[in-house]
Amino acid sequence: MIAIHNLHKQFGKLEVLKGIDLDVQKGGTTVVIGPSGSGKTTFLRCLNILETPSAGSVTIDEQTVDFSKPLSKKSIAAFRKQSAMVFQHYNLFPHMTALENVMEGPATVQKVPKAQARERAVQLLEKVGLGAKLDEYPFQLSGGQQQRVGIARALALEPKVMLFDEPTSALDPELVGEVLQVMKDLAAEGMTMIVVTHEMRFAREAANEVLFMDGGHVIERGRPDDIFTNPTEERTKQFLNLIQ
Ligand code: ADP
Repeated sequence: MIAIHNLHKQFGKLEVLKGIDLDVQKGGTTVVIGPSGSGKTTFLRCLNILETPSAGSVTIDEQTVDFSKPLSKKSIAAFRKQSAMVFQHYNLFPHMTALENVMEGPATVQKVPKAQARERAVQLLEKVGLGAKLDEYPFQLSGGQQQRVGIARALALEPKVMLFDEPTSALDPELVGEVLQVMKDLAAEGMTMIVVTHEMRFAREAANEVLFMDGGHVIERGRPDDIFTNPTEERTKQFLNLIQ
């Protein structure tokens, strides 16, 4: 479903991604871990072209973008539609209810008829356990509930791939579980996902593959049990000792 080849990103002289390769099968979940500043967020943002990579290519399903060539706005827009992102700080519209937040993308951007967008938004909010909170505004919701609205909003775009950027790291510890449960359910249903997180339990329970990044490189990759119990690279061992 996803094929990433030799992805590079520079900010001015700072080279943040130094040639990342990754394949994710349809329905696969890849968890990306690594120290702060290693390029994890930049990597995810490049996949949605929120940042434009300096070189390399990304294929999602049957669409490929090659960043060594000039890209038209149209091809960028078409490529973006294939994935949806869930952010650390939810990024909900504060003046809209939960329902309006989830309807906004389909109704405004995708021009789906309002009644249809509404029906789908209700279904998605029910799916993330918020069927009783449709008309609440973000400030009336807990962080965990806001993030579940964020996930419903991303799903409303009907993406082929979901990208999660540290979706639980802004949450109080007691609210982390409800968000991870929604993500585990999605993984079990066969959604293709790339997740930047330090939640090792999630990685163990839901990921097919764990990728350890440091300094803009993928240092080590493997099945969660292998990476966590038997890492081969010294840098991976050091990192895991710090966070586990
Ligand atoms: P991580 O998610 O692993 O913490 P990031 O991808 O956020 O890492 O950042 C990697 C490096 O890129 C950091 O040195 C950061 O300061 C730098 N960086 C990220 N975004 C920008 C930007 N828009 N402009 C300049 N430097 C950036």
